[in-house]
Amino acid sequence: MKYIDEYRDKEIVATIVAGIRRISRKEIALMEVCGGHTMAIHKFGIPYLLPENIKLLSGPGCPVCVSSRHYIDQAIAYSRLNNTIITTFGDLMRVPGSTSSLEKEKAAGAEIIIVYSILDALQIAERNSSKKVIFLAIGFETTAPGSAAGVLNAANRGVKNFLLFSSHKVMPPAMKALIHEGVKIDGYIAPGHVSTITGTDMYKEITDKYGLGCVISGFEPVDLLQSIYMLVKQAETGRPAVEIQYRRAVRPEGNLKAKEILNEVFTYRDDWWRGLGILKDSGLAPKPRYREWDAEQMIPVDVEETREEKGCICGEILKGLKSPGDCKLFGRDCTPSDPVGTCMVSNEGSCHAFYKYGRKG
Ligand code: SF4
Repeated sequence: MKYIDEYRDKEIVATIVAGIRRISRKEIALMEVCGGHTMAIHKFGIPYLLPENIKLLSGPGCPVCVSSRHYIDQAIAYSRLNNTIITTFGDLMRVPGSTSSLEKEKAAGAEIIIVYSILDALQIAERNSSKKVIFLAIGFETTAPGSAAGVLNAANRGVKNFLLFSSHKVMPPAMKALIHEGVKIDGYIAPGHVSTITGTDMYKEITDKYGLGCVISGFEPVDLLQSIYMLVKQAETGRPAVEIQYRRAVRPEGNLKAKEILNEVFTYRDDWWRGLGILKDSGLAPKPRYREWDAEQMIPVDVEETREEKGCICGEILKGLKSPGDCKLFGRDCTPSDPVGTCMVSNEGSCHAFYKYGRKG
């Protein structure tokens, strides 16, 4: 199958692994900041192929994992209002709030509908004009243009009962915060999907100012190993750079149309990340001219006090400081069918990946 078979070819994999082993001398730590990469790295057993001196760390790349419990609590509070429908992607349903979850609220009678795109949510709003329909918008630069397009569609079609509840975040502030926190990182396996939208410019500061390489990677074994090879080479030669391994999808300038839509609808705001706290200009909220479609601006709601789960170390895991195996709850009190923290709920979370594939860190 094109774009699959050649990127899983055992001989090519073996050649790249041999190349990594040939050039790799230093102890280095490489971090992926994309949940899709986290899953692929563990699914394909990439850590087992590398020499001991190369450590792979998982960073804050899972949008569900980094979002605040307060966000879920607020979504639950919205779901309890009369004449209100919550529309969401399925992966938020089981994320624990402080005392409930969207799944539990639905079972208790709240109108919560799983959708596959924001346009589905918009159609639900058009069919239910007497109700407010709130779309839970999470994700990084990859999904934010879709949300922006949804708002523009609602505005153009005059759909006034459709509202966005944004938890969209952008990557660079988190990547820089990790460096400031002193996490030992020698290079980033930069996110493939995010970069299809943003292009390469946003990584320049990480390379120029902080001296870390960024290689934008695809998601197959050959992609990931080739990216690791490129980062090892940069580290060994002392020449950090922004490079694109994932050339079949990423262009240096990114997706100009998507960026234009994103900039039309959203503005930056300070936002909270699990493990990292509040980071300046790291979140996206609708601009004032789109406030009519912004749930936070239009629907005041009382939200219960946020309570974090005791014993969960998702925050440390998202900073690459601990591994899921370090958590006392892992695999016993916390499993994908009965998750305690967000890193176990989401398919893209490190704990979920470790549990599913039983791999080493
Ligand atoms: S195993 Fe569960 S409780 Fe522990 S860090 Fe992961 S998600 Fe949190």
